[in-house]
Parts: sequence; C-alpha cells; structure tokens
Amino acid sequence: MTTLPVRSSTLDLIGNTPLVLLQGPSEAAGCEIWGKCEFANPGASVKDRAALWIVRDAEARGELQPGGTVVEGTAGNTGIGIALVCNALGYKCVIVMPDNQSKEKMDTLRALGAELVTVPPTKFADPNHFVHTSRRIAEEMDNAVWANQFDNVANRRAHIEGTAPEIWDQMDGKIHGFTCAVGTGGTLAGVGMGLKAFDEAVRIALTDPFGAALYSYYAEGELKSEGSSVAEGIGQGRITANLEGAPIDTQFRISDPEGLDWVARLLREEGLCLGLSSGINVAGAVALGRQLVAEGVENPRIATILCDTGFRYLSTLYNAEWLAAKDLPVFDWLGSASEG
Ligand code: PMP
Repeated sequence: MTTLPVRSSTLDLIGNTPLVLLQGPSEAAGCEIWGKCEFANPGASVKDRAALWIVRDAEARGELQPGGTVVEGTAGNTGIGIALVCNALGYKCVIVMPDNQSKEKMDTLRALGAELVTVPPTKFADPNHFVHTSRRIAEEMDNAVWANQFDNVANRRAHIEGTAPEIWDQMDGKIHGFTCAVGTGGTLAGVGMGLKAFDEAVRIALTDPFGAALYSYYAEGELKSEGSSVAEGIGQGRITANLEGAPIDTQFRISDPEGLDWVARLLREEGLCLGLSSGINVAGAVALGRQLVAEGVENPRIATILCDTGFRYLSTLYNAEWLAAKDLPVFDWLGSASEG
C-alpha cells in the first residue's frame, strides 16, 4: 500500500502542505526554523485555504446558490484560489485587483477564466478602493456573494481548523514560536489561535513590513505607518475582523532588503523560489528564534509561512531593471540593470 497521499477530489489538494526545515535561517537564528510550504497548494499560495473556507461557508449559510457568482477584491492570490474553487464547484467569479500588482497574477486569473476588473491603487478610505469596488459589484449582481476576505472570519477558521493543527502535528507538538506577516490577518490570527489552543505558551509574533500600521499598534497601541514596501499581499493599516482578538505576544518590523536577502539565499542555497512576503516572514522567524535563544529557551523550534511561489514575480522581484528602478538590491546572478 502506498504511503503517499491519494485524494478523491481536487479540492482535497488544498492544505496538508509539507513543512520543511530551513538550513540558512536555522543557522542564522541558532535554532530550528521551519517553513510551511503553502506554495504547494494548487493555486500556489496560502490563500487557497481561505478561498475554500469562504466558499464552503457561503454555501452552508445558503447565500451561494447553484449557478452563482463569487466576487472578491484581492491583491491576486485570494482571487486565484477563488477561481480554482469556483471552477471545481461550478460557480463563476469576478475578481477586483489594484493594477499595481504583478502581471503574472493578472495573467493567471484571466487564464483560469475569472472575470478580472482592475482599479487604480488607492487608500482604503477611497470609495473606489478594490475592496469597496468588489462589494458594490456583488451588491449589483443577481445571485452573487461578496467573499469579503478581510472581515469574513471564515478566512481565519481555515487556519484555526487547518494550518494550525497541521503545524502542531508536523512538529510533534514541539513548537515554541510562530510568526508571519499580515494581509487580511487570517493566517496570523488563525494559526495563532489554533496553536494557543494546543499550548498557551507558544509565542505568536507579528512580522510587519514597512508601510504597514500594525507594528506600532501592537507595540504602542497606535495605528501608525512608516516607510513603504513593495511586498504584495501584505501590509495592513487597520484591525480587520480577522485580526480582532489575535493572540499576538510580540512584533518585528522587517525591511524589503532584509526580506529580499532571504528570498535570494533560499533560492540560491536551498533551491526554493518564493515571493517577498515569504522572505519577510523568514526574517521575522529568525528574529523570533534569536529572541527565544537569548531568553535561554533550550533548542527553540519556530514555524513560519512560505506564502507563495516566486514564479508569480518573474517580472518584478526576479527582474534586474524592476529592482533597480525601485532602488532595491539586484540579485547578482541576474546581471546589472543595464545588461538587462
Ligand atoms: N503573502 C502573500 C503573497 C499573500 O497574497 C497574502 C494574502 N493577501 C499574505 C501573505 C497574507 O495572508 P493573510 O491574508 O492571511 O494575512
């Protein structure tokens, strides 16, 4: 009998992702740093989980009817997850995205058959922000539901019921800390709540990029941002419903160059091609590992999220001209910007 996984439905391919011990980060932290391989989901990101839970929840509440449409505003990965889940269950979808996100994500959404609407990137207070635009489209359509990933807690339930018990199991209950960055907060809040339910002592840390307002909120009680980041899918300016009650013990702020350095090292030294939010998460996990080591915790074991595949960013993170234009360090194997 095979011990390799066999699934009777494509939707069962979502979740149960492998956990991998990261060599460079473990050496840098002086303890074990583990990465949850969310790029191994069918849509190549952590957001397949939220997409499946949100669609199943809308069905269970009777809001999503046969032939219906799911509408969502997204940086792209949630849209890709929703498009795959809708295809598998016979629904249509409309995806609204800010037009500064990677071309690869937009091309992928079109290829999957989603109806794509792009809007200029604006602040959340602007009525034309992608989130508000998606809500309006859903309201104006017949037989449509708004996924509302930021404030729909079916999102974090995917991580309370899925990601957290998987990590606990994969680490045999020997885990001292978990950290990741926040887009909606579903992953951080859900994994945090899920792990604390097993062991209240697991330290849960926010890893925030510059330009987001959560670091100062958890450090000083005030939503305040500083600087900026090119990382897609993360960087939140408010307490979403998914973040409410998140058990966050400590926080780190990580710069794009620090995150990019881990993206480069994980690719060149360990053969993992990832997006920038994964690099920022790994930098945060190293900081959390060092904190626990400095406190005298014996052999701490830390987990973080490897959120999506780097193939989604070939025209940005892996493009010398793009990096140089953003004043970011260019990976040396890409050549200089002028050589193209
Ligand atoms: N990384 C990437 C690449 C993402 O697309 C997202 C989702 N927006 C996240 C991290 C953050 O996940 P969450 O929405 O659960 O906070």
